[in-house]
Amino acid sequence: MKRLKDTVPNALYIHIPFCAQKCRYCDFNSFVSESTFIDKYLTALEKEIAGLKGQYVFNTVYIGGGTPSILNELQLEKLLRSVLNNTMLGSETYEYTVEANPGTMTIDKAQILKGYGVNRISVGVQSFQDRQLKLLGRIHSGDDARKTFDLLRSTGFKNINTDLIFGCSNQSLSDWEKDLKTVIELNPEHVSTYSLTYEEGTPLTRDLDNNVICTLDEDTELEMYKTTIRSLTLHAYHHYEISNFSRDGYQCAHNLIYWQNKDYVGVGAGAYSFVNGVRSANEKNVCRYIEDLHNNKNIKPFHECLGQDRHAAETIIMALRLRQGISNADFCERFGYTIEDQFSEQIDKFRRDGFVTFDNKILKITQEGLYIADTIMSEFV
Ligand code: SF4
Repeated sequence: MKRLKDTVPNALYIHIPFCAQKCRYCDFNSFVSESTFIDKYLTALEKEIAGLKGQYVFNTVYIGGGTPSILNELQLEKLLRSVLNNTMLGSETYEYTVEANPGTMTIDKAQILKGYGVNRISVGVQSFQDRQLKLLGRIHSGDDARKTFDLLRSTGFKNINTDLIFGCSNQSLSDWEKDLKTVIELNPEHVSTYSLTYEEGTPLTRDLDNNVICTLDEDTELEMYKTTIRSLTLHAYHHYEISNFSRDGYQCAHNLIYWQNKDYVGVGAGAYSFVNGVRSANEKNVCRYIEDLHNNKNIKPFHECLGQDRHAAETIIMALRLRQGISNADFCERFGYTIEDQFSEQIDKFRRDGFVTFDNKILKITQEGLYIADTIMSEFV
């Protein structure tokens, strides 16, 4: 077995753990906070970002949350200035994304983002239908989402993603078709569609446990997924990842790093990093994160070294999410053995049933395989 080559991360994730209101389905590391507390967080974050100076050249930067667009204009400038002053950004081809939620974006904020070189906005639309947005506990209406999209276009953003959720308890297939029709009319460069998951401890899951709402039946949810693929591909979106669709040349370069299981650096409360086979996480508690940075203490309470086999298995699992799959040549270059050396049993099993292919030594999930992707991936652990 060969020693893995040292790798240098060229992707940076920055976490903003604040939201205008907690959505009813959300278990992310995000909170409602006073503006003065956000200021303190940004000061701490600035210190962490300053620590990156001179270490890496980032080709992708992704500011996510939470709701980065909740920052006021001054806060936004402070954050973007800190990225600009302390990190080296790659050539002109770099991708710089900021997540924005309808109801929190203004023309002034959009212009500030543009001015600092942000070239991609990911809009948390989730649905265009007010009944569903209400159930999800979103702060905005479908109309707000359309207005945010138009505002971003008028500011000159040419690369916009929209996030959509399907599988809500009060949603019919025709509701979902309407959402898809609306998004196709808006014509973003990228569309991410996720099925609703009921996370432990969220108000929505409590409603489910108390029979206030019920889950959508599996057949309808599967039909929604199939409809998504059919509609978006018919309108020239490439289905390049299980849940993601893009126009030609607009795949999300930052997320591709995750799906290819390559190295990245994460800053901010609870952010993960993955460098040279070591996964680490920052302190998740926002108060402790601020305090520890202020006191120059260690802010990474969690580290794990994956080990070569686990790293390889995770790489296969993530690669199966991508429609392009993973080639033996790439895999071998990274891990020093072939895909069959380690996974021939799983490949044979799923190939027989038509769920994966291994033509020309490229392992890929098939269209049928997509519908049982979780089962397939679990066998590669
Ligand atoms: S806006 Fe996003 S991060 Fe914030 S509470 Fe809602 S789902 Fe969670």
